[in-house]
Amino acid sequence: MMSFENKVIIVTGSSSGIGAATAIKFSKQKAKVTIVGRNESKLKNVAEICEKNGSKPLMIVADVTNEDDAKKIINDTIEHFGQLDVLVNNAGMFNNVSILDPHAIEKFDQILATNLRSGVYLTHLAVPHLIESKGNIVNISSAASTKTFWPENFAYCTSKAGLDHFTRSVALELAPKGVRVNCINPGPVKTDFIEKLTMDKDEQDKIWADIERTTALSKIAESEEVADLVLFLASDKAKSITGSSYVIDNGALLK
Ligand code: NDP
Repeated sequence: MMSFENKVIIVTGSSSGIGAATAIKFSKQKAKVTIVGRNESKLKNVAEICEKNGSKPLMIVADVTNEDDAKKIINDTIEHFGQLDVLVNNAGMFNNVSILDPHAIEKFDQILATNLRSGVYLTHLAVPHLIESKGNIVNISSAASTKTFWPENFAYCTSKAGLDHFTRSVALELAPKGVRVNCINPGPVKTDFIEKLTMDKDEQDKIWADIERTTALSKIAESEEVADLVLFLASDKAKSITGSSYVIDNGALLK
């Protein structure tokens, strides 16, 4: 049993998928949670579940790539809950980009801004509060940070490779200040990200079936399994772990 009673946690990208599952699990452990995303109605659904679990979250509709929004996420959390113990940089997007695409650089910039720069900026803003609480950071990276699973994936892979190395670099810098920083590298997880790429249900099913075949265990993880790992790394049980990357990929990297 991990206790997060009176701990304050920010989970970005908590309107769906891994972030929503993580916020909900933290709320079950009595944490005070700030949930963040652009989609207000989806955030409200997550807020209702957290509240039913006995922990009313602070809901912030925000775009993590916008610096004013990022400041609001940190400042409102401190104003509302009085402290910050854990930052989960989870918000992210996926898109195939060919280096030959005439708009490749524009698309690359957007993916980097969402998957890497936003986490760096939020970390920069959060660190003074985390030093005070001796808190920690969990970054949601990807198994694609070390393996290029298919062509036209350079933007996403590069953003996640950067996030891994950012994790290690700041972990070293912040260790003397008592702040731990780790990341999780999921393989395929059953979330909305395919649905965001195509509305065609048959195409979605085909993509999921193809993805399933890429894992050694021939299955896809659920968001809740990744959330369990986030809670472990954020807890005192992981007090000796910093600068580490945890792969949860059903053996996708083995193939
Ligand atoms: P979802 O699409 O379900 O969730 C993505 C979340 O990020 C949503 O809550 C979305 O909220 C939020 N988000 C995206 N862009 C922004 C933004 N600019 N500002 C604020 N919030 C944003 O996908 P997953 O749960 O799968 O993804 C979560 C993380 O897990 C990502 O970092 C992803 O790269 C990583 N991951 C996922 C894998 C998978 O197979 N599913 C595999 C490996 C890593 P909203 O739309 O409301 O803004």
